[in-house]
Amino acid sequence: MSVHIRFLGGAGTVTGSKYLIEHDGQSLLVDCGLFQGYKQLRLRNRDPLPVLPNRIGAVLLTHAHLDHSGYLPLLHREGFHGKVWATPATRDLAQILLPDSGHIQEEDAAFANRKGFSKHAPALPLYTEEDALKSLKLFRTVPMREAFEPLRGWHARFSSAGHILGAASLLLEVGGRRLLFSGDLGRPDDVLMLPPDPPPAADVVICESTYGDRNHPQEDVVAELGPALARAAARGGTAVVPVFAVGRAQEILFAIHQLKASGQLPHGLPVYLDSPMAIESTELFCQHLGEHRLNAGQCRDIGHVARMVRSVEESKAIARQHGPKVILAASGMATGGRVLHHLAQHLGDHRNMVVLTGYQAPGTRGATLAAGHPSLRIHGQDMPVRAEVVQLTSASAHADSNQLMAWLKALPSAPRRVLVTHGDMEASDRLRHRIETELRWQALVPEHGSTWLA
Ligand SMILES: [Zn+2]
Repeated sequence: MSVHIRFLGGAGTVTGSKYLIEHDGQSLLVDCGLFQGYKQLRLRNRDPLPVLPNRIGAVLLTHAHLDHSGYLPLLHREGFHGKVWATPATRDLAQILLPDSGHIQEEDAAFANRKGFSKHAPALPLYTEEDALKSLKLFRTVPMREAFEPLRGWHARFSSAGHILGAASLLLEVGGRRLLFSGDLGRPDDVLMLPPDPPPAADVVICESTYGDRNHPQEDVVAELGPALARAAARGGTAVVPVFAVGRAQEILFAIHQLKASGQLPHGLPVYLDSPMAIESTELFCQHLGEHRLNAGQCRDIGHVARMVRSVEESKAIARQHGPKVILAASGMATGGRVLHHLAQHLGDHRNMVVLTGYQAPGTRGATLAAGHPSLRIHGQDMPVRAEVVQLTSASAHADSNQLMAWLKALPSAPRRVLVTHGDMEASDRLRHRIETELRWQALVPEHGSTWLA
């Protein structure tokens, strides 16, 4: 009996990760992510899945980032009632991220209706905060490296992928096949996260390729961030730093702590962490000691380096603070969240700075800024960009091309096939080429919506 892998997302793009595995009348989803970035991609979130959600037996989440988990509330509302398997830290993060995602969907829809710029009247949220809260009840946690049986006769095990707190690779054994999903792989030299576990033997490897065509520079975050923030502060400017609430926010806080401790940044320079979600994620870091490189003292340090901004009133009050400052706010690619009003406030002044802190998916505001575009559309208005835009090349939660190759090389034996996913076309194809020429393994880049017979 054959095993089918259907690529319902995360193929030919970095977002929307959703792999449907079917065997002998049963099926499960590996990851359940939202499409983000280009509007044509985001519209896919509104298309019905090619399979009825109530026919899917389980969902296995490699990690909590929304491009891997953010479709779950909708899947549940549309009829999925199976279990959602995840590591404990992934469940903890999903409890923060999913309701917030629902909240943002509702706010965006309400805003569009208020301003009347929605082409569909009235704009409806993809799902609500309440939908998200309901979907959290489906979670079952399983510790890293422990075997579990998501469906009768299907065996699975998570192993550490680095990347972010709780992030895992997944080995799935079904129908006599061993399928290994890399999940998002972290870098072995990450400032915060421990290196990924070596991969177990598998017949088919489904490997991410976010940075399949690039290698990270040797530079570290502290060395890149220090001079930039010092420059903005010296000219009395505000640095707005769009951050991913999970991982990147903590990494930047840790870097700022080191920069202040070594005197590279003025001790009195005000730093704000304006993201309730990032604040909660920072607290989670301290609760999951041993899953990352920080000790208890360092966890406390990153909690103290910034003023934690929880309420919307406080967030708005930051704008009234004169003098240089640093504002960290989500989301990391400026697709939504509080960072938008900080950008709208600060983009027009050349003394200010925007620091982009990681991969910016094509079609996002972050990518528009990175490309040096003279204006940016926020809430239906074009804002002129006069602030300096800096993109950190070192801050990345993803393994680069060489590191992906090294992870694959660590497989105990050659797989029959590597399916290269979770990358832009260029990145995926470059990695495919390297796998075929350097390892002499068969590799291919599956198309969105295609099915692979394992
Ligand atoms: Zn991720």
